Amino acid sequence: MRHRELAWGLAWGLAWGMVRVEQVDEESQQRDLAQVNQALEARLRELEATNATLTAARDEAEAANRAKSRSLAELTHEIRAPANGLMGMTDLLDKTSLTQQQRLYVDMLKRSAVTLRHVIDDVLDLSSMEAGRLEMVAADFDIRDVIDDVLETMGQQAQRKGLELVAEYPPVVLPGAHGDLRRTRQVLVNLIGNAVKFTSEGVVRVRLLDGDGVGELRVEVEDTGIGIGEDARAKIFEPFTQADGSTSREFGGSGLGLSISKGFVEAMGGRIGVAAPAGRGAKLWFTLPRGIDDSGESMAVPGLDVAGSRAGLLVKHPAVSASLRAALAGCGVDATELPDGAAVGPWLRGGPDSAPVVLIADAHGLSAGPDVPLVALRRLDESASWSGAASHGGRQPVGLHLPVTRQRLLAALRGALGLVGAGAGRGARTSAAVAALRGLRVLVAEDSPVNQEVTASMLQLHGCHVDLVTNGEDAVDAVRHRGYHVVLMDWQMPGLDGLAATARIRAAEAAEGRQATPIVALSARAMPRDDQQCLEAGADGYLSKPFSEGQLLEILAPWAASVRGRSDAPTDVFDVLDAEALDRLRSLQRPGTRGFVERILGRYVGEVDPLIRAIRQGAEGGDLAAIERAAHTLKSSSLSVGAAAMGAVCANLEKLARTGGDGETLLARLPELLRAAAEVRAEVARVVAAANDDSGVLPGPS
Ligand code: ADP
Repeated sequence: MRHRELAWGLAWGLAWGMVRVEQVDEESQQRDLAQVNQALEARLRELEATNATLTAARDEAEAANRAKSRSLAELTHEIRAPANGLMGMTDLLDKTSLTQQQRLYVDMLKRSAVTLRHVIDDVLDLSSMEAGRLEMVAADFDIRDVIDDVLETMGQQAQRKGLELVAEYPPVVLPGAHGDLRRTRQVLVNLIGNAVKFTSEGVVRVRLLDGDGVGELRVEVEDTGIGIGEDARAKIFEPFTQADGSTSREFGGSGLGLSISKGFVEAMGGRIGVAAPAGRGAKLWFTLPRGIDDSGESMAVPGLDVAGSRAGLLVKHPAVSASLRAALAGCGVDATELPDGAAVGPWLRGGPDSAPVVLIADAHGLSAGPDVPLVALRRLDESASWSGAASHGGRQPVGLHLPVTRQRLLAALRGALGLVGAGAGRGARTSAAVAALRGLRVLVAEDSPVNQEVTASMLQLHGCHVDLVTNGEDAVDAVRHRGYHVVLMDWQMPGLDGLAATARIRAAEAAEGRQATPIVALSARAMPRDDQQCLEAGADGYLSKPFSEGQLLEILAPWAASVRGRSDAPTDVFDVLDAEALDRLRSLQRPGTRGFVERILGRYVGEVDPLIRAIRQGAEGGDLAAIERAAHTLKSSSLSVGAAAMGAVCANLEKLARTGGDGETLLARLPELLRAAAEVRAEVARVVAAANDDSGVLPGPS
C-alpha cells in the first residue's frame, strides 16, 4: 500500500513536473519567439531603410548616367560638327591641284580626321553600352556580303603595306547569320583593322567556318604579324587595354576596339576570343547565331550562269589562290591551280570540250598564252594597262582588282566569258545615279558656315543647284516659295529646328494639296534611334554628320531619280552647261579638226575670274557702272557657251546695278555668283575630260 501510494505520488509528481516543464518551455519559447520577432522586425526595418537608400542611390546613379549620356551626346555633337568640316574640307582640298608635298600634308590631315571620327564613334558606342542603351537591329543576313564590303574598304590600307587581304568562304559553310548587320560590320572593321595594323608583311585572312556550337557560325581573322602573347590574351578585351603599352606608341590606337567588339558580339548572342595561331601572328575569332532562313533563296549564289565553267588559276600568292579556288567552287566553277604557263595547254586539253574556260592570272602568271578568255588580277595602285595583254592571243583581259570580292569576281567572270549583263555592277549603277543629280535643285538648311560650305561644294561638284538658309523659318519659306527637288535639313538649328521646320513644311503641303518634298535630316548626334526619330518626324532620309561625299550622293540618288518625273517639281532649273548650245558650238567646228569647243570653253573659264574680281571691286567701292559692265560681259559670254545658270545670275546682277541697287545688296549676291562659277568650272572640266576620253585613248581592261 505504502508502495502504491509512493508510486502514485511519484507518478503524479513526475507528471506535474513534466507539465510544469512543458509550461516553462512554452513560456520561454514564446519569449524567444517574441525576441526573434523583434529582432526580425528590427532587421526588416533596417533592410527597408537600406533598400530606400539603395533605391535613392540607384535613381541618383541612373539620373547621373542619363545626364552623362546626354552631355556625352551634346559633347559629341560639338566635336562631330567641326570634324564634319575638317573631313569635308579635306576631301575638297584633295580634289584641287596640289604639289606633291601638299598632297602628303592633305593625306595626313585626312588620316587624322578619320581617326578622330573613329575615336568619337568608339567613345559613343562604349558609353551607350555602359548605359545599357545599346540598340540592336536584328535580322538574317549573308555574312559574306559584310566581309566583302569590309574587304573592299580596307583593301587599299592593306595593299599600301604590301599585305595580301583575302577572304575564304568554303562552299560547304552556310553563310546566313542572325544579328545586327551594322554592328557586325564594325566588329569586322576592328578585327581586320587590327590585323592590318599589327602586320608588316604577309597576309591577313578572313575565314568563314562552322561554329563549334549548334546553330552558330564562326569568323576567324588571322594574320602574320607581331602576335599576342599568352598572358595578354585575357586582358585585350578590356577597355583602354593594350597587349603591350609600347604598341600604342608605335601603332597608335585607343585600346577600345576589342572591348566594343566584345560588347557587340555578346549582345548579338555570340562569343569572341583569341586563339593560338598555326604559325606566327594572331588569330581572333567570333561566332554569331545562324539565321533561320539559312537555306533560303536569299543565301543562294547570285551568279549561277557561270556554273559549269572551268577556271585555270595562275596566281603566285597561295592565300590569294586558295581564296579564289574556294570562291569559284562556291559559284559552281571547277577551278584548278596551275603551277606555270606551261601547264595551261595540258589543262585545256584535259577537260570536256563543252565547258567554257577562263584563265585567272596575276602579273606573274600572265605571259604569252593561248587564245583563252582572261581575267587579270591587279592591285589597286597597279595601272590598268597590261604588258602581257597584247601578246595574250590578242584579247583584252578583263581586270579584277585585289582584294577579290564575290560580286566583282562574278562580274569579271561574266565579262570574260561574254555572258549577258557583264559590267552592270555596282559601279555602273552608282554612276548612273550620280549623273541624275545634275541640275537637281537642293535646299541646304544648316546653321554652321563651315558645314554649309562643305555640303554646298560637294553638291555643286555634281552639278546640283544649291540654295542655302541658316534656320528653320527660312527653310519653310524657301520650300514654299521656290520649290526644291530635295531639302537637306540640319536637325539641330537654333530657333526653329529641323524637326519643327519639317513639321511646318509637311503641314503646309497637306493644307495646299502639294506633293511632299523629300527631306533628308542631317544630324551630328548619332545617338541610338536618332534616325528613327527623324524619320518618324516626317523626314524621308537620314544622314549622320560628318558624312563623306559618297554617303551624301548615295542618299540623294534615289530621291533624285524619283523626283525627276514629277509634274510639280520645280521647272525653272537652268542648266549649268546647256547641251543644245554646246551642240551649236560643235557645229561650228571645221571638219577634220578637233578640240574647238574645248578651246572655247577653256578661254571662257579663263575670263570668269577676272570679271568676278571686277564685280567684287565694283561692289566694294560702290561703282555701279563697273559692275554693270563686268556683269554684262560675263552674261553674254556665259550665254554664248551655254552656261545658262551663270548667265541668269549675271543678268540679275546687271539689272540690279542698272536700277540703282546699293553696293551692299550687290555684295550679298556674290556668293551666288561664286557658286555658279564653281559649277561652271566643274562642268567644263567634265566636258573636257569626256572629250579627251573619246579621243582615241583605249579603256583599260576593267
Ligand atoms: P587598339 O588597337 O586601338 O589599341 P583594341 O582594343 O582593338 O585597341 O586592341 C587591344 C590590343 O590588343 C591592341 O593594342 C594590341 O596590343 C592587341 N591586338 C589586337 N589585335 C591584334 C593583332 N591582330 N595582332 C597583335 N596584337 C593585337
